Amino acid sequence: MTDVATYSERDGAVYKTLLESTKAIPWKIDWKSMAFEYIGPQIEELLGWSQNSWKSVEDWATRMHPEDQSWVVDFCVAQSQSGIDHEADYRALTSDGGYVWIRDVVHVVRDEAGDVEALIGFMFDISERKKIEEKLAKLQKELEELSFKDGLTGVANRRMFDSIMQVEWTNARRNAQPLSLIMFDIDYFKQYNDLYGHLQGDECLKQVARLLESAAARSRDFFARYGGEEFVMVLPETDANAAALVAERCRKLIFKQQIPHQSSLVSQMLTVSMGTATLVPSADDKLTDFIDSADRQLYRAKENGRNCVVHTA
Ligand code: GH3
Ligand code: MG
Ligand code: MG
Repeated sequence: MTDVATYSERDGAVYKTLLESTKAIPWKIDWKSMAFEYIGPQIEELLGWSQNSWKSVEDWATRMHPEDQSWVVDFCVAQSQSGIDHEADYRALTSDGGYVWIRDVVHVVRDEAGDVEALIGFMFDISERKKIEEKLAKLQKELEELSFKDGLTGVANRRMFDSIMQVEWTNARRNAQPLSLIMFDIDYFKQYNDLYGHLQGDECLKQVARLLESAAARSRDFFARYGGEEFVMVLPETDANAAALVAERCRKLIFKQQIPHQSSLVSQMLTVSMGTATLVPSADDKLTDFIDSADRQLYRAKENGRNCVVHTA
């Protein structure tokens, strides 16, 4: 008998040593009293709170990030009451006021009658994993932003234009509001590249994009590079007269910059031609027709001698 008892005591000591030398932190809570029966000494190294300061479940709940507190406590209590093993990721408060990401894995222990008797579990330090996850999420966000940005000029790209245009078109139709569109095309830009070189052509495109973008005055006005040396501006809740004023302001803005263009057939300076379209879209109207109509006016502006604006017929 003595031998067996000695063996089991030794056995317990082995388990204790094992539990207290792992990185995971073991703990046990008595369900009736909601008190800690045990928590591994490793907790002090991880969070700074001493082993014997973990008395009740309150100590656990209050040493948590305020944003995590209510959902984690509610979730763990509900799962435990239903007798379901569970796990939760949360930010545990350290004694010096910082936070450490923890994964708490909980096993529900029942007595012979099937009632919840205790909770036992392990806390794992998952801060490294969370850091990587956060870095990945940041990269993902940057990638999403880049995929909507034009690589050369930094303004929104065609893809973004397609999305915004669709949203504004639907909005305008629903609210019976006029929607305007301005299409820009630089005059004789082929000749510009031929004379000044493609690199300077690129610089010129950047400058024009910056200028035109700055001309969009209202917060919902949207400007994008449509392709090549063509740009586009979406003006929600804007009628034809207002759109004409914006287009004229853009034309003057570019001309005022006096960007030399010696081989232009219109002027010695860089100029742009514009076509505008305005519509209160009805259920029968098509977005593609609307865009085409701005494009047609742009073509007419070219025919009319360039450096001018032609409005919806
Ligand atoms: P128009 O007045 O009729 O518009 O004459 P254009 O020479 O501007 O004719 P078009 O619009 O057809 O030509 C566009 C030119 O723009 C062709 C191409 O060399 C130039 N281009 C398009 N994209 C870029 C770019 O990213 N960088 C540079 N440098 N040039 C570009
Ligand atoms: Mg063009
Ligand atoms: Mg052109």
